[in-house]
Amino acid sequence: MNNNERADTVCSTGEFDEDETPFVEQLKRRKKRTKPLDSPPPTKKTLVDNIQAEPTNPTSNIHKPPPIFLKYNCTSNYIQLCKDIQENIQPATFKTKSGPKHLIILTDTPDGYRAAVKYLRNVKIEFHTFQPKEEKPFRVVIRGLHHTVPVELIKTELEKLGFKIRNVSNVIINRHGTKIPRPLFFVDLEANENNQNIFEVRSIMLGIVSVEEPYKKTEIPQCQNCQQYGHTKGYCNYGPKCVKCGRDHHHSQCTKPISEPPTCALCGESHPANYRGCTVHTDLQNKKKDQPKQCQIFPFGDSPPGTLENACHQKSRPCSQLSSSASKHR
Ligand SMILES: [Zn+2]
Ligand SMILES: [Zn+2]
Ligand SMILES: [Zn+2]
Repeated sequence: MNNNERADTVCSTGEFDEDETPFVEQLKRRKKRTKPLDSPPPTKKTLVDNIQAEPTNPTSNIHKPPPIFLKYNCTSNYIQLCKDIQENIQPATFKTKSGPKHLIILTDTPDGYRAAVKYLRNVKIEFHTFQPKEEKPFRVVIRGLHHTVPVELIKTELEKLGFKIRNVSNVIINRHGTKIPRPLFFVDLEANENNQNIFEVRSIMLGIVSVEEPYKKTEIPQCQNCQQYGHTKGYCNYGPKCVKCGRDHHHSQCTKPISEPPTCALCGESHPANYRGCTVHTDLQNKKKDQPKQCQIFPFGDSPPGTLENACHQKSRPCSQLSSSASKHR
């Protein structure tokens, strides 16, 4: 996995805009996996309860690789393109499906998928894809731990119990512009058969905690690179579009004066491209509500079969709402 891809897998930090998602409240309403306050207090003298995660081998399940969506303007010579891809991914093979807006490449193995992505990036073909299932972290929320406990320490304590931790981040809510850390931590674990055991952890650094499943957002992800909906920046190989002015550059290079109104890269109206009231977003949302689940994966109408697992793989939020407070472990 290259750095871009990995960066995206860890970019969803703990910061929340309170008016966007009453995350904490929704989490409270969810069925708890554990009832730590009703449970007997920890009796062990270690900082973490002595619940050892059973050592198991990493999951050996091989998931179907995600599809790769190529823009049609990159695929004028279909036969040559197929030859080139085949040469670069062998011994893996692939099939294609031509949708209304994209040529879709369906590789048969994870190695073939990675080789195809690498080749397409090298030759600068515009495409987007999704995070492979085996690379998705297993995310849980730790509730009840003091917000000042360093994330590195939490990581170490959980690793002592046999868990493979990719990332720990404190949940920070944004209340009227003020950032407020909460006694909640997101923990991303590498795929492993012992991951369910983390729900049994009752105490970390003397804090009585509960480990819960996070609330799953149903928002359509938006790419922070090209601004399109349905994929995220780590899996995007399109040219950048500015979220503020809609032109072909990253927003960090934008020279638009503040006095000038924004221009949406998606609809051309006078708002930033991540405005949720944009007609492109509202149309997609309405379409999503009307469609059966299988069709919701490909909001732009390209729907190869058997790829349900690739839906909405990452949370996406405007750059302004992202916090860099999370510790990023690679
Ligand atoms: Zn994109
Ligand atoms: Zn700009
Ligand atoms: Zn718009």
